Amino acid sequence: MTKPLTPKVLIVGGGPGGYVAAIRAGQLGLDTLLVEEDRLGGTCLLRGCIPSKAIIHAAGKFHELAHAAGIGITLPQAPTFDLSKAISWKDGITARLNSGVTGLLAKAKVRTLTGRAVFSDAKTCTVATKEGPVTIQAEHVILANGSIPAELKSLPFGGDVLSSTQALSLSELPKRLAVVGAGYIGLELGIAFAKLGSQVTVIEAQDRILPLYDAELTRPVERWLKKNGVAVHLKSLTTGLEGQGPSLKLLYKSADGTDQQLPCDKILVTVGRRPNTQGWGLENMAVDMAGPFVKVDDQCRTAMRNVWAIGDLVGEPMLAHKASKQGEMVAEIIAGHKRSFDPVCIPAVCFTEPEIVSAGLSPEQAKAAGYEVKVGQFPYAASGRAMSMEAAGDGGFVRVVARADNHLVLGIQAVGANVSELSGEFAHALEMGARLEDIAGTIHAHPTLSEALPEATLAALGHALHI
Ligand SMILES: Cc1cc2nc3c(=O)[nH]c(=O)nc-3n(C[C@H](O)[C@H](O)[C@H](O)COP(=O)(O)OP(=O)(O)OC[C@H]3O[C@@H](n4cnc5c(N)ncnc54)[C@H](O)[C@@H]3O)c2cc1C
Repeated sequence: MTKPLTPKVLIVGGGPGGYVAAIRAGQLGLDTLLVEEDRLGGTCLLRGCIPSKAIIHAAGKFHELAHAAGIGITLPQAPTFDLSKAISWKDGITARLNSGVTGLLAKAKVRTLTGRAVFSDAKTCTVATKEGPVTIQAEHVILANGSIPAELKSLPFGGDVLSSTQALSLSELPKRLAVVGAGYIGLELGIAFAKLGSQVTVIEAQDRILPLYDAELTRPVERWLKKNGVAVHLKSLTTGLEGQGPSLKLLYKSADGTDQQLPCDKILVTVGRRPNTQGWGLENMAVDMAGPFVKVDDQCRTAMRNVWAIGDLVGEPMLAHKASKQGEMVAEIIAGHKRSFDPVCIPAVCFTEPEIVSAGLSPEQAKAAGYEVKVGQFPYAASGRAMSMEAAGDGGFVRVVARADNHLVLGIQAVGANVSELSGEFAHALEMGARLEDIAGTIHAHPTLSEALPEATLAALGHALHI
């Protein structure tokens, strides 16, 4: 048995939580070891954020080309889509990012080890590497083990039942795709497949799509789904499947309680993700749990001294940028900085058609928190830039929510083409404690979609200029 490795900081998981924690720890001069059982990059880079956005982009481009006659573009024949070429383009992006992360870790002098870390106590784990088992005893442990797709008992993954991971690497476009779960992952992928020509049907247990966003924001997405022939069955519960191959059928109970059969070629199950807490000795680490998640305080400390946990493992929102910020913070705390995780907002984006952004409080959330609010909204229909991008007719808007007494902005939400790119400005305004007047007084370049934000604040102040 070789001598145990004894880094100051051991990080488990090379996703956006773990690898960012490792880079920052390395930058701060801490002796850092990162263990990852797969390639570096985690869910986000390898099978989540980036690959899904690549496929969404490819599908969007294909769809645009096929529908560009209105702006004077006709093709000699209808465009065709080569899925395997798109998948290898997407794989090329993830490979580039994977080697980028490898390079950044090396630059920060972080050691890496490939294999699964299994803990025997809070500070000791063994990693089964290709060269044999390696034991690690660390002063600090940062757990960044991430999350995995939630499975339905009645529709276990395998065969024609896909998780998002498999849906991002298909060799053939399904002619008929059933999507179970109308959360952001299901709808982002479902819409992409619909744009590529699959006949998509969505089955959702709740009474609306994207239940975590308010109804006003999701309406334009509902309209797009309807207009583009994507059937959505709400208040419907899947019960299993029947047959296989061309005779595959998804079984579900519809809103009126009757049993239904949906013929399809593939079933994509996107009913959420669950923290990855099993199979690596978490139970030997004496940490506390908060429901299915590892319990942490506002510095990401677990109940065990010098064991920290970040990212999807510790709770909602399960988003890459939250994981990274927590990772950066924990590395700095270990290096002696005074930090806590107390963001004003963690913006969330749905890369649906159209896109949705939510940062801070919605009008209802603000009222429920006891605020009297002023709300201002500016429609894309009145934006010259949106018109010039064929985006004025999709029902998009930017909405701002502020305290009625002192005009402190509490939340900014938007739906419409490319609003994902406005999310940074929204978060920035909230973190900087902007008032309506601060945003209204900031000159935004013309013509840009970003002008909709100061226009929304002017609407809240009662003197909108362009509506
Ligand atoms: C289809 C899809 C689309 C998404 N889109 C977005 C988006 O647009 N924006 C966004 O913010 N988020 C998105 N997400 C969510 C995002 O991917 C996660 O929130 C993020 O990856 C969480 O980061 P993490 O570091 O906590 O965990 P992960 O990225 O899950 O990384 C955990 C890593 O730990 C490794 N690991 C686990 N246990 C061990 C062990 N015992 N030993 C060694 N290694 C181990 C795993 O192999 C994995 O690489 C998406 C997710 C999916 C599935």
